[in-house]
Order: sequence, then C-alpha cells, then structure tokens
Amino acid sequence: MADSSDSPKEACGVFGVRDPQQPAAHLTYLGLFALQHRGQESAGMAVSDGGKITIDKDMGLVSAIFDEYRLQALPGTMAIGHTRYATTGASAWRNAQPVARHAGGTFFALGHNGNLVNTAELAGDRPDADLDSDSDVVAALIADALTADPQIADGDGALIAALAAVLPRLQGAFSFVIMDETRLIGARDAHGFRPLFLGQCDTGGWVLASETPALNVVSARVIREIDPGEAVVIDDEGVHSFQFAPPQSRALCSFEFVYIARPDGTLGGVGVHAARRRMGRALARQKPVDADMVMPIPDSSIPGAQGYAAESGIEYGDGLIKNRYIGRTFIAPSQKLRDNAVRIKFNAIEDNVVGKRLVVVEDSIVRATTLRATMRLLRDAGAAEIHLRVLSAPYRWSCFYGLDTSDRSKLVAATMSIEQIRDHLGADSLAYLELDQMLTAISPEPGGFCTACMTGDYPVPIPGMLTT
Ligand code: SF4
Repeated sequence: MADSSDSPKEACGVFGVRDPQQPAAHLTYLGLFALQHRGQESAGMAVSDGGKITIDKDMGLVSAIFDEYRLQALPGTMAIGHTRYATTGASAWRNAQPVARHAGGTFFALGHNGNLVNTAELAGDRPDADLDSDSDVVAALIADALTADPQIADGDGALIAALAAVLPRLQGAFSFVIMDETRLIGARDAHGFRPLFLGQCDTGGWVLASETPALNVVSARVIREIDPGEAVVIDDEGVHSFQFAPPQSRALCSFEFVYIARPDGTLGGVGVHAARRRMGRALARQKPVDADMVMPIPDSSIPGAQGYAAESGIEYGDGLIKNRYIGRTFIAPSQKLRDNAVRIKFNAIEDNVVGKRLVVVEDSIVRATTLRATMRLLRDAGAAEIHLRVLSAPYRWSCFYGLDTSDRSKLVAATMSIEQIRDHLGADSLAYLELDQMLTAISPEPGGFCTACMTGDYPVPIPGMLTT
C-alpha cells in the first residue's frame, strides 16, 4: 500500500457479491472500502435486483461517493464493484468502472484489475469512439460476441458463451468481475498476474475480491483463489467453474508483496505482512550497517523496518508521522505549498531523529521525487546519517500489467546507477534487496512470480517492445 508518489500507483480493486440474504450494495460498499488502497481516483458499483441492473459510479474515494441515501437507491442482492487507478485511459468519469453494455438482449457490467497488452490488436480498426481503455475494448468484444453469433445470442447462458469466446483472446493481466442480471462471474488471466479470491458468507452467499481483507470485512471466509485461466460462474445453483485457457507458468505480481496488497491479507497462501518482515530481515543480513535506529517510511514499509530491526538488533523507532487523511488528490492552494507537498504528507519527529544514525527502510523507489524531499526533511530535523534500505530490487523496467510505470524515462533506476541515486537522494548509503533474496523472502518455493519491472523479463511479451 504505497503512499508516496515514488512508488508506482496502485492497481485496481474488484469486488463481487451474490447473496440472496443480504443487500448487495452495502456489502459492496464495505468491500470497496477495504480495497480503497488499490485505486483512489474513482469507484463504482453495478447492482442487480434480479431483473434490472443499476450502476452508480463517480470520481473520488468510496466513502465520498457513496452514502446511505445513495446505497438505498441500489436495491438488489447481487453486485460488482471497482476502485480505479488509471493505467490506460484518462482519469475521468467516463473511464470509471464498472463499464456496462447492452447487446443481443443481455445487459452486463464488468470491472477490471490489470492491463491487457494486445488492446490495439483487439480493438482493430473499430470505429467505436468510446474505446478509451482496455476494459472498454473487452466490453465491446463481449457485446460483439453477444450479437454477432446467433448461437451465442440465443439462450439463457449467452454471457457465458460470449466470455468463453472472448477471454481466450485477451493477453496480459486481468482479474475480472462480470455480471448480468442473475449471474456473477469472476475470471483471471492464464498467468495469474493479479489476485482474485472466492469467499463464502455465513448466509451461504458468495463473494469475489482482489484481496482477502475485502472478504473479511463482509464476514466471508476465504474458499480459494481463482486459478489462472479459470472463470467461475455463480448462480442459483452455486459455483461452477470452467477453464477458458490452459494455465501458463504462474506470474503473480511480486510487487503485490512489496507494497500493493494490504499487509493483513494472504496471497498464494503467503501472509503479506510476514513476507515483508522477512524481506526486512534479509536486507539486514545482506546490507548491515552501524546505526542507532531503524525507521520506516510509513505505512507500507513498517513490517520491513520491523524485520530489519529484529534481525540487526538495532532499535526500531518512528522518525516520520504520516497524515493519514491525505488523499491522492489533495488540494494544495498555492504553488509554494504544492512544492512542499512532502510536508503535507509527512512530518519528522525531531526528538527521535536528531543526532541519530538512521536506517530508513522504503518498500521501493520508482520516481524518487517524494523520497528525495523526505530525506531532506530528516536532515533538516537533525539526522546525523541516513542509510537508505529498499525492500525490493531496483525498479528498472516499465510495468505493462496494471501499474502506471509505462514511461521508462521516469524510472530513476533505469537512468541512474545506484551510486547516482544515493547521491541524488542525499543518503549516506543506499542498498536494495537482491532479487533472489526478495523472492525467497516471499516464498521458499522457486518461481511463480512476475519480476519484469526488475529484470526486463516479461512473462507475456509486449508488442513492439525491445527489451535490450
Ligand atoms: S512488472 Fe512489476 S509491477 Fe508489473 S506485474 Fe510484474 S512484478 Fe508486478
């Protein structure tokens, strides 16, 4: 859960529920609230009362968009929801999700976490002016399938047949929640880049969510992860599954463990908090340093800093306090204040840092703008030495699977040596966790993770990209 602009922005969060015993809009509100860290630009939900689907979406945070009055206007016991950070398409209302289409007698809505890499090929030369994002293109393809093929258009299972035709054509990262008036569907790409979980409520209802805390918040227990290449269909009869594509070698985003996912969740059977602590311990073994205090850049680096402190025996302490109420789009009323944005986000605890040799633990360094200002803040507060330790390997390559780092020229580790980055940040020393150590800290079992942003080794090739 990164909170500095130095980290890549969050992915997106998806949620779905089908529970005849409970109001779906209220459960979806809770689920989206638990997934707020994955996308803070817009949020929305589509709710079905069994006969009609109502959609409500807007720019802003979940709690700012939805209130009791608005939720009451969304009756029904089945819903999907989405929190968005723009990775393709502009940050604008028209790109808020769920997206919806009416085609061939079927009305459906769709929420997407991830990023496709063959969007241009899929879009072809369509004249459709509404295709702003890869999610729009997928919705258009499903609509095409619902109308173009009479065998698909007919019958109760039209949407399932359309998905079986469209999903195998998609390349890249996707975890979808999709619904028509009566069915809830979850689907995950064949590499499993982004997480997607199935849970069940005490009432017997079913839930889909990007992360396990979103299941916990609606009192659903985790049943399992959706498998790579699998779609699950939830209807009156329960949960059905079909494999729309053969699973490929698993490529779960390793950065989910570094900072994207909530620390109170599990992914691939691994507790995220414990994994981050192990990264911190590994970093302390790999790059020890004489110091007086280990401190995190709050909040996502806290478990890693705790791990570093435990392994090194150096006291753990807080050197920075973060304003927890700062949204991604806070308003700074003047240029001077905007230039000083880091002080709006963080403040130093002077008593804790003055005269001290600090080990400052950060989850990742992507653009380094905020981190540079944060280092200055600690110096101004009287830190004697700053030894920066990073819980991941250098982020040198763009992510095309759902994070907003497609402009490689903005990635500090792509353009500077480690020594240049240290100098740029004004740290006394700088060390990154070695990639193999990072992966071992996540899981002792080898393989299974995407590491493309650190290695340039893309599990799904990026059309037109030269990686050397
Ligand atoms: S490139 Fe990096 S951020 Fe993107 S999916 Fe792979 S590991 Fe995650």
